[in-house]
Amino acid sequence: MADAPTIVWFRDDLRVADHPALTEAVGRGASVVCVYVLDEDSPGIRPLGGAAKWWLHGSLAALGEAIEALGGMLVLRRGPAARVIRSLVDETGASAVFWNRRYGGPERELDAALKAELADRGVEARSFAASLLFEPWTIRTGQGTPFSVFTPFWRACTSAPEPRHPLPAPDAIEGVDAAGDALDEWNLLPTRPDWAEGLRAAWTPGADAAHARLAAFIANDLAGYDEGRDRPALAATSRLSPHLRWGELSPYEVWHAVRERRAGGAGATRFLTELGWREFAWHVLFHAPDLATRNWRPGFDAFPWPPLDEAALHAWQQGRTGVPLVDAGMRELWATGTMHNRVRMVVASFLTKNLLIDWRRGEEWFWDTLVDAGAASNAFNWQWVAGSGADAAPYFRVFNPELQAAKFDPDGEYVQRWVPEVDTAAYPEPVVDLRESRAAALAAFEHVKAARG
Ligand code: FAD
Repeated sequence: MADAPTIVWFRDDLRVADHPALTEAVGRGASVVCVYVLDEDSPGIRPLGGAAKWWLHGSLAALGEAIEALGGMLVLRRGPAARVIRSLVDETGASAVFWNRRYGGPERELDAALKAELADRGVEARSFAASLLFEPWTIRTGQGTPFSVFTPFWRACTSAPEPRHPLPAPDAIEGVDAAGDALDEWNLLPTRPDWAEGLRAAWTPGADAAHARLAAFIANDLAGYDEGRDRPALAATSRLSPHLRWGELSPYEVWHAVRERRAGGAGATRFLTELGWREFAWHVLFHAPDLATRNWRPGFDAFPWPPLDEAALHAWQQGRTGVPLVDAGMRELWATGTMHNRVRMVVASFLTKNLLIDWRRGEEWFWDTLVDAGAASNAFNWQWVAGSGADAAPYFRVFNPELQAAKFDPDGEYVQRWVPEVDTAAYPEPVVDLRESRAAALAAFEHVKAARG
């Protein structure tokens, strides 16, 4: 039984249940220092966007309460993470530091260096699998290479041993008093009060809300998920993405809750496959850490993006392109911090293939405005739509927003909700002609083909 405390470093796993690092730390039998570090200083760590910061504020408040309810406390520190953890070890005399793994490039480098440094100092440093169902280095093709196509990737995952069952929350945490910041000092909430209000109306961060959402989804929507998931006017998807992004709920908890209801049939299978896309995005990022900035297909570097049309980008961001489904999606995003998946694909296709604006500009806007903005899913999906990514939609498949609206929003309910002026003179003319701009995009793509993309 250890006497010196154990530090548990919380990152993208803001929960107390199914948290292997916390469970192991409590199991050592000594006190536990729970810490979250707001790190905007370490090299390569991407600063959070505005909507993500809003979520983080609520999620840390909820985590703090959950830890206190078990007898511990959550220490909030700000600064370069390695330095913060180092000084916390010195202050508390901790003999061990535990965390759940991260899979981004700069994060892995930071964690590996810190682990080595702590080990050199005789401090036990251990990391655990908690945020992905399958560790990226365990899923490989027959040739030992990473998968670049989803279907065989997911087949390999589902043929691997089933993900472990989730761990219960500890019964109690013996806390340690350590100085920390007050959450409000971090100014994570947006300065524009109307933005915060919209986000608050749409979401409740925290593990309790996440579990309630999962239970409601399974009870009401799972069976019909396969049919309803592409209809943006319906609340037919789980809306779990920000909860998963922040780790308020683990994918193991979701996996097993759904598996127990497998009688849900096609809906359940389809839903677990979507969780598979989350895994795939992380695995792709693990092997291509600069996914948010560099074309996954090098051949795409030859794509001749025209000079940035600032006015068109602005119109897109503000939902004023004159293309109803695009504008509805972009307004939903600004108002609620999320957008239905079908519409994300349509607006991304419109930006990259009708406005001919580099996918990176779209990725950045989503990064700033999505509550579920994730290093892997955002970059992966932008590249998927743009045609530069892994298992990407072929470039010539340009989503036609009018046909997409006719098919997936046949009564115009979603568009009416977000663009009520759509049928009036107040609504703008389209900023581009859909047919002409599509033809221009296909002509530009010839450069990629010529470069053997
Ligand atoms: P559900 O349909 O209920 O799916 C369940 C879960 O599966 C989701 O919560 C999510 O974790 C995962 N999932 C579903 N679809 C995908 C997908 N295509 N890729 C990866 N995971 C998926 N998702 C993010 O979590 N963060 C992002 O930053 C993000 N950016 C995107 C950008 C673009 C351009 C596009 C086209 C998609 C993006 N997605 C992103 C994927 C997807 O749109 C959202 O995960 C989904 O809309 C979330 O709603 P839901 O939780 O109701 O999903």
